[in-house]
Amino acid sequence: MKDRPTEGLRYPFEKPPAEGAAVELADGVLWMRLPLPMKLDHVNVYALDDGDGWTVIDTGFATKRSRAIWESLMQGPLSGKPVRRVVVTHHHPDHIGLAGWFQTEHGAELVTTRTAWLTGRMLTLDAQDVPLPETLAFYRSAGMAPDVLAKRESERPFNFADVVAPMPLGFTRIADGESITMGGRTWDIYTGHGHAPEQATFWSRDDELVISADQILPSISPNIGVYATEPMADPIGEWLVSCERFAAVARDDHFVLGGHKLPFTGLPLRMFQLIDNHHGALRRLVAFLDTPQAAGDCFMPLFRRTIGDAEYGLALVEAVAHLSHLYQTGQITRARRGDDAWVYQRKD
Ligand SMILES: [Zn+2]
Repeated sequence: MKDRPTEGLRYPFEKPPAEGAAVELADGVLWMRLPLPMKLDHVNVYALDDGDGWTVIDTGFATKRSRAIWESLMQGPLSGKPVRRVVVTHHHPDHIGLAGWFQTEHGAELVTTRTAWLTGRMLTLDAQDVPLPETLAFYRSAGMAPDVLAKRESERPFNFADVVAPMPLGFTRIADGESITMGGRTWDIYTGHGHAPEQATFWSRDDELVISADQILPSISPNIGVYATEPMADPIGEWLVSCERFAAVARDDHFVLGGHKLPFTGLPLRMFQLIDNHHGALRRLVAFLDTPQAAGDCFMPLFRRTIGDAEYGLALVEAVAHLSHLYQTGQITRARRGDDAWVYQRKD
């Protein structure tokens, strides 16, 4: 790893746009926000001026409120020309939520990676009234707290389609190493992994703008989780590989437009921090595993704070991800406990 960069993070625009309003970050690049009903209470979306229309980057959840905000944006700061294209950075619902609505209701073209489209489309069709047995088995193997597990067993699970509009057939694929023209600039497309598979980021060749999606965020570390879909995934390993790659091209003058929080400069330092945070977490976890522990027992060494109910699900999948990385890189062993939880222990 490179020496620690010295230039700090700076936020040239300290005030986020008000609901239904836009802030011009650069010539032809507008920043807007949509609300989320979670602890992380907003998602950033952007509109790029293509002359005869707009390219919109990400969309927010498919809720009545989000649709109303988009309608007022289209009659306000985006008026005068249509949204012709929606670029979706990754398949998470706060980003892909209204992509299908833009296609169906506004005639926009959807542009995204193949993995994001396939995953988004699959999850919108995969609606469940009761939790799947595989999901419950996965929770048990993670050592989910018994009271949380009992609640999950008895409730209708969260369904992707609850907050994502139906996705019609038809999208335009983008891939790593390609370029795209939008907002009067040519952007190199680099995909990253770990937070979501094949997440697209856009690096302007013509100025210092970077659209980083959730791959690179300031002030919060993107969630990295393992799920029942792929219990032996190693997203931490993939994340670290992606971070090293982005660190190698990061410049102090890059102006980074992420999916959450404020646009910032200081990308080399931020890449150093994102990498270092995970190495630190992995070190604390290995130190903690002198006795066998399940993922649900590892929150304190991993997050260094107590985890509330609202964060429990995200914390658990993140703990599984860190343990899985240590296990698959041969640093710890695992065995089944009587309650079916995997318990992990340091090799000595
Ligand atoms: Zn997000």
